[in-house]
Amino acid sequence: MLVWILCISTTAALVATSLQLFFDYRRDVSELEQGMRYIEQNQLPGLADAAWNFNVAGMQVQLDGIGHSTWVAGATIHYGPSQSAALTTGQVDPDAGRRFEYVLRRNEVVVGKIYIAPNLHTLYGRTLDRIGIVLATQGGKSLVTSISILLLISWMITRHLTQMAEFAKSFEPGKSFTPFVLRRSPRTPHDELTVLVDGFNDAYGRLQKAHEFQVRHNEILSQEVALRTAELLDAQQTLAKLAVTDKLTGTVNRLGLDEAFKSAMTLADPDSHPLAVILSDIDKFKSVNDNHGHLAGDSLLQEFTGILSRVVRATDTVGRWGGEEFLILCPQTTLEQALHLAERLRAGVQAHAFAEIGSKTSSFGVAVLRKGETSDDLVRRADEALYRAKEGGRNRVCPETPAIVS
Ligand code: GH3
Ligand code: MG
Ligand code: MG
Repeated sequence: MLVWILCISTTAALVATSLQLFFDYRRDVSELEQGMRYIEQNQLPGLADAAWNFNVAGMQVQLDGIGHSTWVAGATIHYGPSQSAALTTGQVDPDAGRRFEYVLRRNEVVVGKIYIAPNLHTLYGRTLDRIGIVLATQGGKSLVTSISILLLISWMITRHLTQMAEFAKSFEPGKSFTPFVLRRSPRTPHDELTVLVDGFNDAYGRLQKAHEFQVRHNEILSQEVALRTAELLDAQQTLAKLAVTDKLTGTVNRLGLDEAFKSAMTLADPDSHPLAVILSDIDKFKSVNDNHGHLAGDSLLQEFTGILSRVVRATDTVGRWGGEEFLILCPQTTLEQALHLAERLRAGVQAHAFAEIGSKTSSFGVAVLRKGETSDDLVRRADEALYRAKEGGRNRVCPETPAIVS
């Protein structure tokens, strides 16, 4: 910007100065022409008289008088018959550009001719002097003006803009915000810079508020997300539990038993980690439904599973196999231990007084995992044992049929 100001002001000064010099030069040329007219009117008649009279000394005096004029560098007069004689004063250079030529007459008779060489040195000297003065004064003026403008702009504008730029660079959303203050006299009138700083502070203030709002909003959002995530996890856990839970008895359902079997089978080893299964079936349960109604049957199922759950160990899993048949999965349990547990269950059921119904019995089939068996094989053998318990008269525990050793 400063360079532009300097260029424009210097160009304007140069144009104005050139015009001034041109008009001064024109005035000097016109003064020269006036000088020549003065010589023509006042000095040439005397010279013509001297030439008429062949007064050579008079002509020389007159010629010298013309030569002393400010605007004359020299002059030559040709006189006499055929203007063969000549007198000269000053410097007359026939090759020099401009010269003034006058015919001298006396009584309508041509008595001579005079050539006057104008003093162009005076003309050019004056012009050169003026150019020198103008260059010195205008150049100095331009220099002083430029430095003054530079200092004024730097003091009044640039330093404030630099500070504003530093303030903008150091601004960090979230850090405490102190509005930018112009470092100048408080009496300084309200100007463009004040308006700019007000707008600047206003914009940064709003940016800060927007950031604070965003932070608060994010916090609320995070809390909301955490709450919803916890609710979702709860719901997920509830759903997962419901998926493997029997609605009526609260024991695991068939799906839950499948999962329990899967993990038990991976750990089971007939030699070191025996896995036993007890399959139980309530005796003559159908008659409960028939005689006391379906709801009484449901209650009996709930009481029955209550007994099973209370008697089994924490490592055992009680699950509804289907209808009024229940399966107890017993990891780390030998056949003997499982038979003992089944017996305790049977006795517990028999000893229990069921609401509305009174006493009820149940039968049990027990089997342990053999080498190379699947869970289906194991359950099938427990089911066979249960069948035999039913066949044997119910309210009893039957072990699997011993393996045939060939
Ligand atoms: P047993 O086992 O001693 O041979 O005789 P049972 O009468 O128990 O024989 P069965 O297995 O045929 O009868 C089972 C009955 O259980 C049939 C069915 O209506 C009833 N049942 C199955 N699930 C439910 C249930 O969730 N609630 C009720 N109330 N009854 C059920
Ligand atoms: Mg049955
Ligand atoms: Mg039954």
